[in-house]
Amino acid sequence: MSVEDCIFCKIADGRIPSERVYEDDTCVAFNDLVPQAPTHILIIPREHIDSLDKASATHKGALGHLLLTAGSIARDRGFAENGYRVVINTNADGGQTVFHLHVHLLAGRPFIFPPG
Ligand code: 5GP
Ligand code: ZN
Repeated sequence: MSVEDCIFCKIADGRIPSERVYEDDTCVAFNDLVPQAPTHILIIPREHIDSLDKASATHKGALGHLLLTAGSIARDRGFAENGYRVVINTNADGGQTVFHLHVHLLAGRPFIFPPG
């Protein structure tokens, strides 16, 4: 699938609508279409990266920014004390279905470990 067909690239540039909760020059955060928790937000880099497996040292800043943004959104929404989960599904066994790297921020209920 080409970058032109990538649904998260389309969400990042507004060609596909989403419920945005945060954005800046590096990333866009929006509500997941099929939430798995009371709060389920996806945080994506504006730059297309297929997966964590395809990330390299040139993406170090963007990757760090995604994690810091997840922590910041969680803190702003009052989840820091109770806790929350951050997930990056990677490739087939990791359960990745959209091949534009994304961080899931899940909060608002307890989570078990290991997940399924
Ligand atoms: P993955 O399984 O790749 O880690 O996660 C992909 C996530 O993207 C899933 O949780 C799925 O519900 C979400 N998703 C897929 N398509 C769309 C969409 O068009 N809009 C939004 N907001 N979320 C989507
Ligand atoms: Zn993309």
